Amino acid sequence: MGLRKILTDKDPALHKVCRPVEKFDGRLHRLLDDMAETLEQANGVGLAAPQVGILRRVVLVDTGEEILELINPTLLETSGEQVGAEGCLSVPGKYGLVKRPNYAKVRAQDRNGNWYEAEGEELIARCFCHELDHLDGIVYTEIMERFLTEEELAGDNK
Ligand code: ZN
Repeated sequence: MGLRKILTDKDPALHKVCRPVEKFDGRLHRLLDDMAETLEQANGVGLAAPQVGILRRVVLVDTGEEILELINPTLLETSGEQVGAEGCLSVPGKYGLVKRPNYAKVRAQDRNGNWYEAEGEELIARCFCHELDHLDGIVYTEIMERFLTEEELAGDNK
């Protein structure tokens, strides 16, 4: 186990399309364990492998109940719409206004290569979309409407 360094969006790794995971071996398990520790330490909701410099299709999402390990994930279904504040561990201290589906269902492999499905609404749906975007080299700042101001972050979204 070990903490990995979280890259900022100035790093080229954040802007590349990641390759699928083919081997579900000890090296992948170590990456997943390290990413979980890094996510917890950073107090984040999600983390994608390119954020720690690994260009593979691996994502973690903390649902509040468990940390989902999503390997080679794809979006199966989305519905609804939400517009709200979104942040990223690779864009520290900032939040943007981003439109996302309100519901999302994903299909992914677990650390042993078994396929499963996961779904969520609101923050979880936002997080699925945000993290999957990372695997295609997309950071939310590229699709946001604008950054939120200090006043908006401090206030009640008046
Ligand atoms: Zn992010």
